[in-house]
Amino acid sequence: MTPSYVYELIGFVLGLLFGSFLNVCISRLPAHESIVKPRSHCMACGHSIRWYDNVPVLSWMMLRGRCRDCKARISWRYPAVELAVGVWFFLAAARLYEVRYNLAIDGWVLVPGETVRTFGIAILGFLLIGLMVMDWKTHRLPDAFTLTGIGIGFLLTCVQAFFLAPGEGDIVLNTTHQLRLSSPGSFASQGNVFLTGTEALIMGRIAAIAGAALILLAVRWGYKALRKRDGMGLGDVKLLAMIAAFLGFGETLLALFAGVVAASVYGILLMARHRASGASKLPLGSFLAAGGLFSALFGPQILAWYVEMLR
Ligand SMILES: [Zn+2]
Repeated sequence: MTPSYVYELIGFVLGLLFGSFLNVCISRLPAHESIVKPRSHCMACGHSIRWYDNVPVLSWMMLRGRCRDCKARISWRYPAVELAVGVWFFLAAARLYEVRYNLAIDGWVLVPGETVRTFGIAILGFLLIGLMVMDWKTHRLPDAFTLTGIGIGFLLTCVQAFFLAPGEGDIVLNTTHQLRLSSPGSFASQGNVFLTGTEALIMGRIAAIAGAALILLAVRWGYKALRKRDGMGLGDVKLLAMIAAFLGFGETLLALFAGVVAASVYGILLMARHRASGASKLPLGSFLAAGGLFSALFGPQILAWYVEMLR
């Protein structure tokens, strides 16, 4: 049997490589530049970066954060992003091992729904880490990430719905009993199926995407009516809709709550140090993205605990 750390290591290395690609996206997408051409080059002297100076994290450490040609500083953002995606993919690989490897039978089990969900969370993390850094640096949240993300998230939800077991996730109304012939001579009461699991998942997700967008649109309109200027960009609206496409409505509310709390704490700290006034612009998208990462990691547990507490 292969120990779990083999898969976790593969996830980590894959994450470092994707993180390296994400750095290219972060540098170029907000400026509407191509992410394929030209090859990576030093921002200061324009020299192409040699392949051995482009190894994630390690090269930056070997070069002590400076260009080999002109000695200009290379931001710590590059290794930080690579490491962040590396850790995220490591966690996704660990989760995949947990849901798919059955220790009792010492073999892999097929759980397509959970597998698709875990892949979705890996992709969501990649997009959120990128958007978090882009909004912080440039106050931009490119459609290439947000709108594409909404599409991918929704598509994966449909794949998940396809793999539901018969009857799984059905919403049943038990007002009147409906008897069905389950085998010759035997009847089973199954209640009235209001929505099948597939319908509930897909329609629920569409409602979640629209609902998430509507919440922030309402805040945007309200702010505009009161202050006569834009307080929030449409990018933030699309970002929250993207989180909803991957995670569903409950987790999205948690992401919004966590993001707003974090942004408020940061704003108060800034004002306390007299570095900002009430009119300063906070990169809200960065905090929403961080809230999304938090919710993707801990959302199901926190929501379950919350529902339990309400009882
Ligand atoms: Zn240089």
